[in-house]
Amino acid sequence: MRIATGCIGHETNTFSSVPTSIDDFKNNYHIGDEIISAFRQTSTITGGFIESSEKLGIQIVPLLWTFATPSGAVEQGAYDTLKGEFLDHLRNAGQIDGVFLDLHGAMATEEIEDAEGDLIRSVREIVGSLPIVVTLDLHANITAGMAECSDTIIGFDTYPHVDCYDRGVEAAQVIFDTIQGNIHPTMAYRQLPLLTSPPAQCTMKPLMSGVVEHLHALETEPGVVTATLSMGFPFADIRDAGVSVLVTTNGDQQLAEHHADKFAGYIWNLREAFNPNLVSVEEAIEIADRAEGHPVVLAEGSDNPGGGGPCDGTIILRKFIEADVQDAVIAIIADPESVALAIQAGIGNTVALNVGGKTIPLHGDPVALTGYVKTISDGQFVHKGPMGRGVRSSLGRTTVVKVGGIEIILTERRVQPLDAEVLRSVGIEPRDRKLIALKSAVHFRADYTPIAHKILEVDTPGVHSPDLFTYDYQKVRCPIYPLNADADFRQT
Ligand SMILES: [Zn+2]
Repeated sequence: MRIATGCIGHETNTFSSVPTSIDDFKNNYHIGDEIISAFRQTSTITGGFIESSEKLGIQIVPLLWTFATPSGAVEQGAYDTLKGEFLDHLRNAGQIDGVFLDLHGAMATEEIEDAEGDLIRSVREIVGSLPIVVTLDLHANITAGMAECSDTIIGFDTYPHVDCYDRGVEAAQVIFDTIQGNIHPTMAYRQLPLLTSPPAQCTMKPLMSGVVEHLHALETEPGVVTATLSMGFPFADIRDAGVSVLVTTNGDQQLAEHHADKFAGYIWNLREAFNPNLVSVEEAIEIADRAEGHPVVLAEGSDNPGGGGPCDGTIILRKFIEADVQDAVIAIIADPESVALAIQAGIGNTVALNVGGKTIPLHGDPVALTGYVKTISDGQFVHKGPMGRGVRSSLGRTTVVKVGGIEIILTERRVQPLDAEVLRSVGIEPRDRKLIALKSAVHFRADYTPIAHKILEVDTPGVHSPDLFTYDYQKVRCPIYPLNADADFRQT
């Protein structure tokens, strides 16, 4: 059994003015067998798919796997080029029995709102009736088009995304069983008129952990192959942004429709519970001051590069300096210019910098400061936390510049500091610090929950702000909750 596999991946924040170019994809771009060596023994989708396939006797035909850090709309030329390459590899794959696509589900180009739907449709045109199994992120804005062109879609169950490996294993089993004729998947799709923001989507909190329990109970119902609840990516002003439900059964469409309706109705009834609960930076500093333990972690979701934030926002840095906080870390500010100046100054010297604030004005102005160059690093690290364990990552050249009691981790690259190795790789032990500001909405919780005394979600403006009322939506389908009070979901 030969199965072709690959990915063109992006989570597109249409509120970001920073376009996504072909170079952004080339930072994380693998062809053919390079895909196997990049992902073997990693807790990723493709890592799980590879290991499970080997056990099942599947021969993997790796095509092209590329993923760009979330940012603004993908340049049309970049998408067309990558899609062309992907489909060429597929046409040249020889005799295959099916296709497994490891996609994100919230990619939008300058001209196509539903880029994954477009890609899956093109794959379908080439492979005809062969099984296509797709995994999607919990932040996928799943469209009817994606569902129509796939045999089975399997979404992540967790946020932080710690079940990627398991979903890859599941995908291998589903495509194997489909090709063997053990199952005949049929899928029902429901889209809810509902937008939710990242903090409320976290499955480590009681609301969503209860939802996931229900989802897992549904998956044990007779005849159900798999079920997906996608919470959606609200920072994409596209028609299909938001929450959707998919239920796949073994050949029983009516049963799939019944379960999809029931589960979607259950989620709709919870809608008011998904509103976020944020604190101001000033309040967070006071709470940390009064805390009897440490570290207190401030999650700045609004500047999360993992969702398209510029990662050079300065609002927290400025407030930390004004409050003269001590034993504090800012992770991270992506500012190649300041990194170069700090390296030029050298370890042990002081340097005058205009830190951050260079990309999107909403995220604050550059902060002029004179700091002490404490550390210079190559920025290479390996994820050791539960999310993406084993994956190699690079912050680019990195420096730690100290101002008063604040250590600022300055990097060349935009990387979500979800793994504590970001701090440890530059000599900072997070357990020893009082206050840690992270440009991450939720993913950091997987690694930081065991070590944080307290976690606070702070309210700063930005292109990834959890406050959905701060955006000027134009294209999303309306009425939609919470933007429109008259939104309603009717079961079919
Ligand atoms: Zn996600």
